[in-house]
Amino acid sequence: VSFGYADVTPAEKTAKVGAVFSSVARRYDIMNDLMSAGAHRLWKDDFVGRVRPRAGEAILDLAGGTGDIAFRLATSGASVTVADINADMLAVGEERAAKRGIAGLTWRAANAEAMPFDDAFFDAAAIAFGIRNVTDIPAALRDIHRVLKYGGRFFCLEFSTCEWPGFAKLYDAYSHHVVPRIGQAVAGDAESYRYLIESIRRFPDMQAFAGMIRAAGFSRVAVTPILGGAVAIHSGWKL
Ligand code: SAM
Repeated sequence: VSFGYADVTPAEKTAKVGAVFSSVARRYDIMNDLMSAGAHRLWKDDFVGRVRPRAGEAILDLAGGTGDIAFRLATSGASVTVADINADMLAVGEERAAKRGIAGLTWRAANAEAMPFDDAFFDAAAIAFGIRNVTDIPAALRDIHRVLKYGGRFFCLEFSTCEWPGFAKLYDAYSHHVVPRIGQAVAGDAESYRYLIESIRRFPDMQAFAGMIRAAGFSRVAVTPILGGAVAIHSGWKL
């Protein structure tokens, strides 16, 4: 499997991704604002609008990190579980929730590849900017399918491949030259941001990823590109 520019063993990737997020956890939220010029907030609003959480539903925010998606889901009155493999990201999330007075979220340390949840437990599952960091993506997609109820829905927000030629060039230059510099200046960590950019470049394109979701057992798989596919929302149903 790949970690940034290097090929590594699966165990090494999991360990290195862990180190990246432990390193960036404290600066994670401000970095998202800086690097996307605040746009990640709009993408996340749009994403949660599509998930359409309802009061009383059980919803999984997988790779939920510092809680951005969970906080939005929770305004519906749904019962939200935030699961993430990284205890440092979860700790920042729990602090943010306490500061904002958001109660009632469940925070769980969990690997997406083998989650500590019962079969058919959730009405919906969401993962935002998480799936490309998972070492065994097909295993994670199968486990998401397992924990959903029949009739349950899955939504994934992730960087993908921009199909607008002019914009793709600009975006490429921005991500390779500007992002690591912001990472260095603000978080003192260019290396983590180099990994994050390289992992975007290596992630399967929209159609290939849709195929992986189908292969995990989902039906009615659909994709909505944002900015020509620089970001994409995939969805599917367990039927
Ligand atoms: N969803 C949040 C958001 O949109 O702001 C956080 C996204 S952050 C870029 C990616 C998260 O994926 C990190 O918190 C990381 O710990 C988590 N992650 C990576 N591999 C994972 C795995 N195998 N299982 C669960 N979470 C994982």
